[in-house]
Amino acid sequence: MSSNYPTRRPTDEAYLDDASFDPPTSLLTLPWVDCHNHAHTLSFADRERYAVAGCRSMVMVASGYHWTPYKPVRSEDIRYLWDDVINRKRAIERQHFFETNLALGVHTGVRIEDPDDLLAAMADYCRLDEVVALGETGVTPAQHAEAWALDEQRAVVQAQMELAADHDLPVILHTPNDIDDGPSYRDGVGLPGFESNVSLAREPVLTGENPALEAVKIDVAAAADAGLPEERIVASHADPNNVDYLLGETDCHVSFTVGYPWLTGVDAVDVADAIREYGPDRVMMDTDCANILRTDVFSVKKAIFELYRLGIDVDTIRKVVLENPMQVFGLDD
Ligand SMILES: [Zn+2]
Repeated sequence: MSSNYPTRRPTDEAYLDDASFDPPTSLLTLPWVDCHNHAHTLSFADRERYAVAGCRSMVMVASGYHWTPYKPVRSEDIRYLWDDVINRKRAIERQHFFETNLALGVHTGVRIEDPDDLLAAMADYCRLDEVVALGETGVTPAQHAEAWALDEQRAVVQAQMELAADHDLPVILHTPNDIDDGPSYRDGVGLPGFESNVSLAREPVLTGENPALEAVKIDVAAAADAGLPEERIVASHADPNNVDYLLGETDCHVSFTVGYPWLTGVDAVDVADAIREYGPDRVMMDTDCANILRTDVFSVKKAIFELYRLGIDVDTIRKVVLENPMQVFGLDD
């Protein structure tokens, strides 16, 4: 092909010294899995965007206290969340064509009055084909509305891990992000981007140098006590504060939540760094999109392109966004 353009005077093209860039068009249609979101709380239009963006399959997580109207929270309130997502799964699949899978759990972000009732009911839910994981759960340094003592939290986390081990399910860990304080806002507006009454934040029950990392270490110890192998843990919300521990000192998988970098500071650069340092075998990504947060349904799809720009090859990207979550969560091909 001639590069002698009939332009009136030379354009940029005439000066290109590397005309060999070959756009990775296969990434445009690469299927991907969102291994942690709350898509059942989003709008129809948001779920349609998942489909348009080529999301093949997702794990919809029902565990969060954000969606229980009452404080304190009782086990029946969390049970309602589990039943609600079961109720909506097929309807969502019929409309949008991606596969939906469920993760049910007891989150420790708020104290639950009678968690034993919930844990007793959980075994029957673990037997459902739709349920591919337990969680999100994990020790939380500080609660919303009502504090939960550390030993009681740990017991609830460990009980779920025991169930997961019994039913050969992975556990999605909610690992606390190490978040910079950021700007201070006018009294009364709360935290812009988060539809929650943040004034109800309780005093931390876990303090010290690095409570966010300490919480993850407690979770990993609880897994050992529960007989849950580390490779059955997917530590979501991986960040620079916990990734060296998780990938360097344990056999856990990590999932980088790239859906709201305005809060966490985590984006594709952190994913690329982890892949370079530790390889792609235990790395995944998720959007964690939820109606209560300013989140981006397209964030994983955008990160796919960004990983390529950052020098990660197409096969490695495919492993991270498709093959790894398919294998860890036992999803159908
Ligand atoms: Zn989540």
